[in-house]
Amino acid sequence: MPESVARTVARERRPAPGAPPTAREPVNMWVEDEAIGPDRVRAFVAILRTRGCYWADVKGCSMCGYAKDTLGRSASPDELGQQLDRILARYRDEPYVKFYTSGSFLDDREVDPASRERIAKAFAGRARRLLFETLPEFAIEPAVGAVRDSFGGDVEVAMGLESTQPEVLGRLINKGEPPSEYLAAADRLRTYGVHPKAYLLLKPPYLTEVESVADVVRSIEVAQSRFEAISVNPVHIQNGTVVEWLFRRGRYRPPWLWSLVDAMRAGAAARGSTRLVTFPTAGGLPRGPHNCGRCDTTVLAALEEASLAQRFDGLDALDCECRAGYARRRDLEGVGIEA
Ligand code: SF4
Ligand SMILES: [Zn+2]
Repeated sequence: MPESVARTVARERRPAPGAPPTAREPVNMWVEDEAIGPDRVRAFVAILRTRGCYWADVKGCSMCGYAKDTLGRSASPDELGQQLDRILARYRDEPYVKFYTSGSFLDDREVDPASRERIAKAFAGRARRLLFETLPEFAIEPAVGAVRDSFGGDVEVAMGLESTQPEVLGRLINKGEPPSEYLAAADRLRTYGVHPKAYLLLKPPYLTEVESVADVVRSIEVAQSRFEAISVNPVHIQNGTVVEWLFRRGRYRPPWLWSLVDAMRAGAAARGSTRLVTFPTAGGLPRGPHNCGRCDTTVLAALEEASLAQRFDGLDALDCECRAGYARRRDLEGVGIEA
């Protein structure tokens, strides 16, 4: 990709600084099915509007368009408090609460320490488990410990490890820190008494379907002993990203759901005692992971059930006329290219 395109893509990511009315509104809220151990529960999800991920300004990851959902500046403690008020007005004591920020909840530039504690306290005694996301460099004791102590229940800290292969993470996904930093952060988090969770990315740009399945399975093998949960996240096309640039030029197809099924079946055998889940975004849609259109709903339902129940044998029986065509295309991808 020409360098000028990379610069344009990066510039288009970030919105202009938001006015106060925008800063009072969270990006989104919804309720979804989840599980805490063997218990099926409802999870309340809120996306805070913050300045967003600092790395998106520095270089940004090739598949990530979350900067579009940010404020374009830091939100003040008062503005974050008003967002929390709106979130609490919708909250119905769901046992699992997930707080996203389109970046790192533990980065003080996004959420200041006092606001973090206020948010954690607001769910103390009401939720069993609180999840937030962070880059590994912010996963340090003072910040994590303050949230843990303010909340008092189970705290789950999710990190976008994406791949345990340094070349995939650094060159294809464009993350700033190598996989070793994510693994070290997971080890630290366990000593702080919280639960580390990893996201793995299925089909970063420039990998074939076969390569991307192998990368996810290898990453599960490496990461399973360090993380208590692993979520496999297939790429969906987000606006203003390198992946979208490639997609528009016919150089990228979102992963087949069959690839996700293969990754989950092989991953289930490699995961040890780690919880392995997948809840694809935009599943079955042209810009998300999809098959032929006829089997997508069935395949997605089987993947969700496997994730919630932690039983993967239901994936073995899945089939459709498109599966043979998928296998033929998959096996031809990359043929003739020297490794
Ligand atoms: S994927 Fe994560 S680290 Fe990369 S730009 Fe997006 S929010 Fe930042
Ligand atoms: Zn099909």
